[in-house]
Amino acid sequence: MCRVHGISQDYEIMTFIIKKNIKRFIAGARSTLTFKPKSEGVRILMYHSIGGRPEDHRFATRVPAANFRDQLDELSRIGYETMTVSELLKSGMSPRAKKAIVVTFDDGYKDNITEAAPALKTRGIKATFFITTSNIDGKNCKKWTDGRNREYMDWDDIRRLSGMGFEIGSHMVDHMDLTSIDRDGLQHQFEGSKKAIVEKAGIKPVTFSYPYGRLNNEVVDMARSSGYIGGCSSFKGINKAGTDNFILRRTEIDGYDIITDFTNKLMSYYD
Ligand SMILES: [Zn+2]
Repeated sequence: MCRVHGISQDYEIMTFIIKKNIKRFIAGARSTLTFKPKSEGVRILMYHSIGGRPEDHRFATRVPAANFRDQLDELSRIGYETMTVSELLKSGMSPRAKKAIVVTFDDGYKDNITEAAPALKTRGIKATFFITTSNIDGKNCKKWTDGRNREYMDWDDIRRLSGMGFEIGSHMVDHMDLTSIDRDGLQHQFEGSKKAIVEKAGIKPVTFSYPYGRLNNEVVDMARSSGYIGGCSSFKGINKAGTDNFILRRTEIDGYDIITDFTNKLMSYYD
């Protein structure tokens, strides 16, 4: 999920940090009172880019690599068993593991293979990478707010990622708001991205995520009829039996999250 740049960036970053600290204070106070997750089910974590500093760009969809590694260690410490999105779906949202969690990445950033994959692999943590195929084709010229180009993986990277045992899913052909396009356009986004991943990486994706988390009935109907088994939204919360396979909920981890925030998110205090 990418975010669009605003005009008064400094003001927006400041507002974001203030809001974040208020949330952090409330979550901290609540977790002091009780330290049990308040809802049962499987949480799906949502990451984007791994690396750089939190202040590198607005809304911090980039998580510094050291923070990311600490978060993975925290998952292991708590005793989570990780699974991919398709494994979660195939389990009927009822995995055998008592503590199960899913790690996902959106957009297809280059650092997913250089930073995230090795950190995951050495810890035996599974993950699903949702890729926007035009990004992988090198057609995206978006920049970070500090002016640097955003770098994406190429098809060799995707094959390597898959070879390492990670799941590859679709994040559409173009990173666009799916609620803004017609039926043909929707079909192209769902089926075209699948076709590209099959043809260029030899992998058949069965899961996907909605760019910007944007969806409506038409979008979800198209998703259901495009040969996928399910997909991730950006709605907060936990997944359990009865959760719609095509509107899975996720928990975004961002660059401002210190380890306490991360744990509080695992404990449902941000849902
Ligand atoms: Zn995205």
